[in-house]
Amino acid sequence: MSKPLALLIYILIGFHCFLQNNTYSPILPSPVVYKQTPGKLYLPQGLSIKSSQFSKEALIQFKLLLSTFHSLDTKEAIRPLIRLRELKNVPNGSYSIAISDDIFISYASESALYYAMQSLMQLIQTENDFKYIQNAFVQDYPKFEWRGLHLDVSRHFFSVEEVKRYLDLMAIYKFNKFHWHLTDDQGWRIEIKAFPKLTTIGAWRDSTLLNHYTTTPRSFKKERHGGFYTQEEIKEVVAYAGKRHITVIPEIEMPGHSRAALAAYPEFSCTGIAQGVPGIWGVFEDVYCAKEESLTFLKKVLDEVTELFPGEYIHIGGDEAPKTQWNKCEQCQEVIKVNKLKDAHELQSYFITQIEKYLATKNKRIIGWDEILEGGLSPDATVMSWRGFDGGIEACKKEHYVIMSPGSHCYFDHYQGKTNNEPLAIGGFTSLEKVYQFNPIPKELDAAHANYILGGQANLWTEYISTFKQLEYMAYPRAIALSQTLWCTEKPDYETFYSILSNGHLKQLDLLHVNYSKTSQLANINTKTEKKGLRIELESKDQEEEFKARIQYQNKLEDLDFILKNKQHFIIERTKNETQKIKVSFTSSKTGLNSDLLIENHKALGIPVRYLTQPNQQYNHSPSILTDGQRGSQPWRGHEWIGFDTNIIVFEIELPKKIKIKHVDLSFLKSNGSWIYLPNEIKIENCSKRRNNIFLSQKIDTEIIKVKMGQRSKKLRFQIQTNKLIPIGLPGNGHKPWTFIDEIVIH
Ligand SMILES: [Zn+2]
Repeated sequence: MSKPLALLIYILIGFHCFLQNNTYSPILPSPVVYKQTPGKLYLPQGLSIKSSQFSKEALIQFKLLLSTFHSLDTKEAIRPLIRLRELKNVPNGSYSIAISDDIFISYASESALYYAMQSLMQLIQTENDFKYIQNAFVQDYPKFEWRGLHLDVSRHFFSVEEVKRYLDLMAIYKFNKFHWHLTDDQGWRIEIKAFPKLTTIGAWRDSTLLNHYTTTPRSFKKERHGGFYTQEEIKEVVAYAGKRHITVIPEIEMPGHSRAALAAYPEFSCTGIAQGVPGIWGVFEDVYCAKEESLTFLKKVLDEVTELFPGEYIHIGGDEAPKTQWNKCEQCQEVIKVNKLKDAHELQSYFITQIEKYLATKNKRIIGWDEILEGGLSPDATVMSWRGFDGGIEACKKEHYVIMSPGSHCYFDHYQGKTNNEPLAIGGFTSLEKVYQFNPIPKELDAAHANYILGGQANLWTEYISTFKQLEYMAYPRAIALSQTLWCTEKPDYETFYSILSNGHLKQLDLLHVNYSKTSQLANINTKTEKKGLRIELESKDQEEEFKARIQYQNKLEDLDFILKNKQHFIIERTKNETQKIKVSFTSSKTGLNSDLLIENHKALGIPVRYLTQPNQQYNHSPSILTDGQRGSQPWRGHEWIGFDTNIIVFEIELPKKIKIKHVDLSFLKSNGSWIYLPNEIKIENCSKRRNNIFLSQKIDTEIIKVKMGQRSKKLRFQIQTNKLIPIGLPGNGHKPWTFIDEIVIH
């Protein structure tokens, strides 16, 4: 046993004698060991240190953290309050802090010392203007080596100062990889001296889509948007990140998402036609032509990129590259022929492999999105799995390194809350709790293959994020939940995490003026089916919380106001007459936060639906979802819709008594980019007829359909048929389509 390791164990045993009950640590991400010991260590105005114990940079960072978080400074002393010891032969990133009469920090490396300092900042408390630390012993090391956050600066540009603030926040939560998405269709953001037009032309667009991509008619902000980082600024950001022990991974997208570059240099596309920098989102058919000249261009770009980023990885994108132009282009077909490739998918693999080989000569390795698996993975590529876990699993089995970043848990451009107050987002629903449940290692992998998983990362695409305030809103506190998953050997349960978060960390974010989302503080609004209508219950994490509730009926002059306690409920009775609209709002007496529901009261409100086809578990959020009076909205939010991945969908609904039904409305979601398509046909069967059940059959060509009935009925059976596979030429072609349904409204 090496001496330092023996020392560490000695400290552990030594401290055991004084241990109190194992309370949860105020530190996030939660350390491996946190044991409180009796007493408090009061900190004088200036912390006495011996500077010679610190490296020059570590001391600068320590002083910076002390002044930022606690307005404290250091002073030189022969017998310092803080003592440091570097340990050899312990895992990189590991550190321990022992607080009693002084603060004794052991650390494995400079990054470990930095993590210890960040943890120490979180241990310092204030009591009547006095700073103190509860005596304790902390031992800690990270679970995963890749703890990443991504930032898309192409769809919206963020300044150097804003990027630095992003890094500062990352550093608090011990993230160590910053994936900088520098190029995309809507803007090229990095100065390349050999190709100046990339930034004089490619960094600017004339307009930007204002409403959601799926909303028609579309409206645009007709204002020039753009910007780029000079190479000097890039170096500045890389150095700034480095001092916080964060490696910057640049992403230069290829062969798709390249419209901005091709606007500047159309000669590297298949058509050679300049088309400008688009101000709208989505996937474009124009990509780099696979000819030699385009590869040479990209290699020259990478010559400059690799000089600016000292890290081992370059991200080359590789996602969402339609093969339409390649299939038509003579030059691309010639490359296929000469290299004896099977098709355009193998051409993409050839393209990426050429780049990989070139980067290998510069001691760089590539990362690509999971599409790089199609047509064969280039030999040394690391895969970033974003379309779920499957790509990552496949790559691990092929013994390639993987970073898990599945849309279901790691896309911070998704909605995080259910209220109507959330800012416009791309869609989806990824709550704080969902992020917390993320595990980068899927069950399907055995231990040997799981070793190929480097860690995980959250991605922040900025199509719908135009300001830094909004960026912070989307990133926090979800990034803190992610840090738990990526750092903790064993993370506490969600409730414990939530109480640590709300007791200290949110206040800390307030002090730093971070515009984090308060959505997770809202009580859950649970709806349940009930004999007479819809039951609404509020469920708060705080037992004491009370709510001012107000019900506003469309056709009543007076509102109904009452107080609702935690876990209390009330019932909205099913309408006996015409459909009516009701607004229900709740204001918390504690936080003042407000949330509301818009309910369309109809003849099926609160009636249970019997599923003869089971919905997909991932999109089956509440049993009352189809009759809760709330229509799923566009852009879609996962929790509002029920999702099926079967070709036939059958369900039944039984009303309390036979009534005359004029018509039945159903809404379907169309979001092709997410592989969610309208089904083909719906049949509604009146099960109340004794002899022949009458079928009503209707083709589905719009998102909201009205099926005329004009019959008396008690029980209806719905049968919905979808396409077997997504047709060629549409996103997700060859895969099964998703069908999302919400609200069956019976008139
Ligand atoms: Zn071509």
